[in-house]
Amino acid sequence: MRALPRNVDVAVLGAGPAGSAAAIRLAQLGCEHVILIDRMLPSTFTIGETVSPVIQPTLEKLDAADVLERGHNRADGVASSWGSASLGYRDFFTDAQGPGWHLDRAQFDLQLSNLAKDRGAEVLHGMRVASAKRSKNHWDLRILRSSGSPEHHQIKARFVIDATGRRAAFARRQNARRVRIDCQIGIARIYEGESKFTHGYAMIEAVSIGWWYCASIPEARTIVVLMTDGDLARRGAFLSVPVWCDLLAQTNHIQNRISTARPSSSTFGVNAASGFLDKVAGAGWVAAGDSAATFDPLTSSGIVNALRSGISSAQVAVDYLSGQIGQSYSVHSRREYENYLNGRRMYYSTEGRWKDNTYWKRRNSPILIDPEAYITTERSCKVHNRMRNKLLPREEIDQIITECKGGTQLSSVVANAVRRLDPLGVTPRRIIEAIQRLVETKVLKIIDAC
Ligand SMILES: Cc1cc2nc3c(=O)[nH]c(=O)nc-3n(C[C@H](O)[C@H](O)[C@H](O)COP(=O)(O)OP(=O)(O)OC[C@H]3O[C@@H](n4cnc5c(N)ncnc54)[C@H](O)[C@@H]3O)c2cc1C
Repeated sequence: MRALPRNVDVAVLGAGPAGSAAAIRLAQLGCEHVILIDRMLPSTFTIGETVSPVIQPTLEKLDAADVLERGHNRADGVASSWGSASLGYRDFFTDAQGPGWHLDRAQFDLQLSNLAKDRGAEVLHGMRVASAKRSKNHWDLRILRSSGSPEHHQIKARFVIDATGRRAAFARRQNARRVRIDCQIGIARIYEGESKFTHGYAMIEAVSIGWWYCASIPEARTIVVLMTDGDLARRGAFLSVPVWCDLLAQTNHIQNRISTARPSSSTFGVNAASGFLDKVAGAGWVAAGDSAATFDPLTSSGIVNALRSGISSAQVAVDYLSGQIGQSYSVHSRREYENYLNGRRMYYSTEGRWKDNTYWKRRNSPILIDPEAYITTERSCKVHNRMRNKLLPREEIDQIITECKGGTQLSSVVANAVRRLDPLGVTPRRIIEAIQRLVETKVLKIIDAC
C-alpha cells in the first residue's frame, strides 16, 4: 500500500458530495496537500437521488458538469399530490439551467471523489478518524481501517473539513451539537420491474401521517419512501412490512405507479430530520454539507446544498491557512438555514387537508400565545438538555429563559430576542414557536399580569 503523507494542509473527512466538492475546490484554489478520507468503500448504496436543474451551475464551478452525462438519467420533473388529491406537475424541461437528474448516487459520489483524486488529493476509502487531538497549530489525526483491521496511520493536518454527513463525526468531538427542528424519518423499500408511470418524474403524495415519494434509481428500480415522524412511526409500527404495505395501499398515486413492480428489499428506516449544528466552525476546522445542516428531502436540495457548502468550506480552509479568520461562514450558514426554514414552513402550509393531525400540526403550528401575556419559568424548571437544542441553539434558549425569570411580557422577550438574532436571519415567528414549545413542555408558563 502507498505510504500516507505525514503532513497535510487539509484533511477532508467524508467523500460524499460535500467532501469531494471541498477537495476539488481546494485544488482549484491551489492547495496542494489534501487528503480525502471516507469510512465506507465506494459504491455503497446511498439514499437521495433527485436533483433539480440548479445542480448544473454548481458543478460547473467545479469544472465537473460532465459527470452528469455519465451514468445518470435525466429527470423530467416532479409530479405531486400536495394540497389536493389530484396530481400537479413541475416540469424541468422549461428550466433555463438545463434538465434535472435522477442520480445513480453511488456512481455520482465516486465520480466526484475520483475527480478530487485526479486534481491531486490523496483519497482513502474504508478508513475513519479514531481520534483527533489539537496541538498548537495542527490536528493529530489517528486513522483506522473501518473494517477493524489493526492498520492505522497518523496524520498531521493544519485544517480539517468535517463532511461526514449527519454523523458530524469530527464536529461532535469539538462539542458541536445538532439543533433539532423535527424528528422526521424515511421508511424506504426498493422495487424492481416496470412501473406504470412515466419514470422520468419523481412523485410526491401527501397523506395524513406525512408524505410518500418515489423515484427511479439505477437498474430499472424504484425507491418508495414514506416520510413521517420517528415517534409516530414507532407508535404505529410503520417499519413492519405489512403495516407499511397497508399504508401504501391507502395512497392514490404512489401505489398505482408501482402496482406492476415487485419489492426487492424489506423496509428500512433512514434519518431524514432537519437540523443544524450550533457551531459549524472552530480553530482549524469547519463543518460542511449534511454535517453542518440537514434539509427536508421534500426540497430535494440536500445534494446541491452539500456541494455549495463544500465549495465554501474550501475557501474557509484556504483563508485560515493564509492567516485570515472570520465569522462569515458561520453567519452565512445560519442565515441560509433560516431562509430554508422559512421556505419549508411555506411548503408545508400549502397542505391543509390534515391540519389537526400531529405530523402536519408540528409543521404548521399556529401561534397561540398572546403577545400581551406574561411569561415566567416553572418553579421546578430543570431545562432538560433535549429541550435546549430544540428549534434554537441552547445558548439562545437559555437567554430566553433567563429573561423570563420573575415574569416578563412575551412581547418584550421576543423583541429582545429579535434584536439579538435578527442578524442571523431568525424571524420573530421562529422565536415565538420556540417559546411556545417551552410552554408546552412546561419549562415556561403563562401567568396573569398582576
Ligand atoms: C430519505 C432521504 C431522501 C433524500 N432525497 C434527496 C433528493 O432526492 N435530492 C437531494 O438533493 N437530496 C436528498 N437527500 C439528502 C442528501 O442525500 C444529502 O443531503 C447529501 O447526501 C449530503 O451530502 P454530504 O456529502 O453532506 O453527506 P453524505 O452524502 O452523507 O456523505 C457523508 C460521507 O461521510 C462518510 N463518513 C461518515 N462518517 C465518517 C467518518 N467518521 N470518517 C470518514 N468518513 C465518514 C460517509 O461514509 C459518507 O460517504 C435525501 C435524504 C434522505 C434522508
